[in-house]
Amino acid sequence: MADELRISSELLDGLREKRPALWLNSSLGALLPTGAPTPLDIFSAEDRLRRCDGLLRKLFPELHARALPIESELVEVPALQKAMAESKAGGTWFLKCDHALPIAGSIKARGGFHEILALAERLAVQNGLLKEDGDRGVLATAEAKALFNSRTVVVGSTGNLGMSIGIMAAALGFKAVVHMSTDAKAWKKARLRRYGVNVIEHAGDYASAVAAGRAECEQDPNGYFVDDEHSLMLFLGYAAAATPLAAQLKAAGRTVDAENPLFVYIPCGVGGAPGGITFGMKALFGDHVHCFFAEPTASPCMMVQLASGSSEPLSVYDIGLDNRTEADGLAVGQASPLVAPLMASLLSGIYTVSDDELFAALYRLYDLEGRFVEPSAAAAVYGPVWLTRTDEGRAYQQDFDLNSRMANATHVLWSTGGDLVPDAERQIFLDRGAGILARSRCVGETHMI
Ligand SMILES: *Cc1c(COP(=O)(O)O)cnc(C)c1O
Repeated sequence: MADELRISSELLDGLREKRPALWLNSSLGALLPTGAPTPLDIFSAEDRLRRCDGLLRKLFPELHARALPIESELVEVPALQKAMAESKAGGTWFLKCDHALPIAGSIKARGGFHEILALAERLAVQNGLLKEDGDRGVLATAEAKALFNSRTVVVGSTGNLGMSIGIMAAALGFKAVVHMSTDAKAWKKARLRRYGVNVIEHAGDYASAVAAGRAECEQDPNGYFVDDEHSLMLFLGYAAAATPLAAQLKAAGRTVDAENPLFVYIPCGVGGAPGGITFGMKALFGDHVHCFFAEPTASPCMMVQLASGSSEPLSVYDIGLDNRTEADGLAVGQASPLVAPLMASLLSGIYTVSDDELFAALYRLYDLEGRFVEPSAAAAVYGPVWLTRTDEGRAYQQDFDLNSRMANATHVLWSTGGDLVPDAERQIFLDRGAGILARSRCVGETHMI
């Protein structure tokens, strides 16, 4: 079937052979589809998170010391840049540390908390516990807890979304059920169970875990399904990341305009998190921000969907890939049908990363910068390498008249998860990365690694 699609045979052959590639989006700048979310929707998500600030601090005392409860640092990564870039002529690298977001330890804190807070607000208003403009602190009272306890929140996940939804739902008093795919790590399931979350394990992939959750909810009138494949509330929670990032860039002395381009690289699974962030960033910075997704070579679902130009859903299985990767957060066969059509207008491109590259980057980030991230998050590291050191990247610079401006460029590598990974697992990942790096140096590969 794939042969009838608009994917060039060269790209298709490379995808099938799992050769890392950069695909550039020729429909960037097209009009958004009708019914697309608007900047007003982002403001309402920002507002929700702001008015729930006190509630979050009540629910999680560890948030007290933080200026913004669910935010992460933006830090320069000069040693990593030095090791991986030819020179500073290509711009300056920063790491956006969502791997260290509190409570959930991943980017899923943004979308997941937003959706559960919206649900809690709505139920409390409907049941007369909360006035529209009332203090959200009441959502942490025994009365509210009793109300929420009559409801079950259900989600399907490869791991991190389950952690975000499960922990927040349980904290508010909801019953929580998380359907986990076969990729989900044992420690993530164990951790959720400690929070009292009902974890149901499946032998199938992400899509089948989501389908199982959806089916369960259809049977339960008191069930609420967080639909990672279609959820606007998740998407907008992610989009709300843009405004604080803009403030951080400003504080770091980074200008973003025609002379000073901004590049953002975000690991992509189903597309909700990177899509929401891209949507927020484009709303703020328009043509001055260039957003790229990173996907595993085994699971390039957004690339396949967008490169096909098809409005019909297409999966990586359709082109003969197996969707098997150590990047458990990105092991998704089919892109979100909510997000893909929006990205067709907003996304600059997508590159793919092999599992070896993920572990090598994970090791480097820890060794050189002292930041531990999980394999999925390490995909972000190769973005500026693709942009500044490959023919495809240089073609993009040329197309957008960026050559003379690259020295002023800001590159944001969006690190998406890792803080909760247990020590024993960390060591396994680091050893594996060190081994891959040593081997690639031995054979003198000039590859991305
Ligand atoms: C979920 C996840 C992503 C990607 O988010 P999607 O919404 O699935 O595209 C990236 N990195 C990590 C660590 C994740 O858990």
